[in-house]
Amino acid sequence: MEKKETRALIETVMEQLAEKVGFLGIEDEESRRRICSSAKEILKTTDKVIKSYIRVSTEKNGITRIPAYRVQHNNISGFYKGGIRFSEFVNEEEVENLAILMTLKNALHRLPFGGAKGGVHVDPRKYSERELNLISKKYVQRFARDIGPNHDIPAPDLGTNEKVIDWMVGEYKTINPGEPYLGSFTGKSVANGGAKGRREATGKGTFLSYSWLLNEWMKQYADEKAVNRTKQWQTLQAFQEEISQGKEIAVAVQGFGNVGSVAALEAYRYQAIPHKVVAVSDRFTTLYHEQGLDIEKLVSYTAKGHDLPSNQEQLLAAGIEADVMPAIEVLTVPTDVLILAAVEDVINQNNMDKIQARILVEGANAPISQEADLFFEEQGTVVIPDILANAGGVIVSYLEWKQSRVTELYSEHDIYADMSAQMIETLQAVYEAYFSSVEKTMRFTCFTLSLARLTDLLYRHGKL
Ligand code: GLU
Repeated sequence: MEKKETRALIETVMEQLAEKVGFLGIEDEESRRRICSSAKEILKTTDKVIKSYIRVSTEKNGITRIPAYRVQHNNISGFYKGGIRFSEFVNEEEVENLAILMTLKNALHRLPFGGAKGGVHVDPRKYSERELNLISKKYVQRFARDIGPNHDIPAPDLGTNEKVIDWMVGEYKTINPGEPYLGSFTGKSVANGGAKGRREATGKGTFLSYSWLLNEWMKQYADEKAVNRTKQWQTLQAFQEEISQGKEIAVAVQGFGNVGSVAALEAYRYQAIPHKVVAVSDRFTTLYHEQGLDIEKLVSYTAKGHDLPSNQEQLLAAGIEADVMPAIEVLTVPTDVLILAAVEDVINQNNMDKIQARILVEGANAPISQEADLFFEEQGTVVIPDILANAGGVIVSYLEWKQSRVTELYSEHDIYADMSAQMIETLQAVYEAYFSSVEKTMRFTCFTLSLARLTDLLYRHGKL
């Protein structure tokens, strides 16, 4: 979804909330409309867009001037929070859209954070370690006045990792001596005060979003709650039937980075329902194997710094049996579940009718366009949207930030137990609302729950 689509959806949802009799405890229609219209204006617009330039001297190109951003969408439910991405596709529009999605994600999962996002317009693969270190430090120098543990707390995102965050923390500490620097960033290395399991959290949560639907929700709650929804409900029931007859769930995963490789490994190891991961991809290659790929071997192969194997020699070295296909094919292979864990806007009007999966899971932010979302709704395909599915990362970020306040180190077990419990609470609320309503996408349901919470807070704060 692009920024204009996200904003249009906010608008539609706010109009529906205004029509809901008794919303915010307000019976009078006129006042409810007035209040919701003010909230709509606040939620559609961004608090602050900061753009700067980072200059680095590079080995190849001499002095390069790189655009960098931090966008703070709003802090209604707490301090601004969201990652910083390093990518050649970064631009102001994209970063702002991602900041809005952070606000909605954090509100949906009841985290005490608002929404923000940062970005640097670089392809990190084209820079040396020394140059990336300089870029990271300069980013903090540029934005030091706008971030901090009680104001705006960045984290990793696409193209950044714990190493980048550790460099940024180091610079923040130099600029602000004596400040509680550990709470200024999340996604730090464990040695540097990070939460155990933060790196795997988004992938694990993404996997949980659909496995819990199939394994728990369908068994425990569906009969009673899924009363009005026809097509998606039938899709899942048919699926359930096949599983009970011994079918293995086929999963394809686009992207084999921090999110995709972890989600693929979770699926590969999952015992409760038999799974096979039939396809995975990175930016160059799709690997396909109808009987299922050995994900453990692929993870150890890529952990050595390689891309996915893409010829016979490399497949042999990795010990993998698979057909090698162009990267884009991962989207259209025969599969039951497709996890999108790469970049935005990968499924849109150009390819939506070629998708074979019955469940689509957005591990990345904004991979499906609004038009495609509506198309899938009509088709009976289940789409689990980004702000619901990929929140594991920011939930663990919250635990990390809390950990730095109480100066404790939570165990990995406690971290996952907390993250899963928090996600399951939201999954349950969303699935219940979605499957018992009529004709609205699951994204619409998520936006509704999130915007209702934010409007309620604005109202309580006396801002409307
Ligand atoms: N970048 C992640 C996201 O898009 C995590 C953000 C955070 O932990 O603040 O949700």
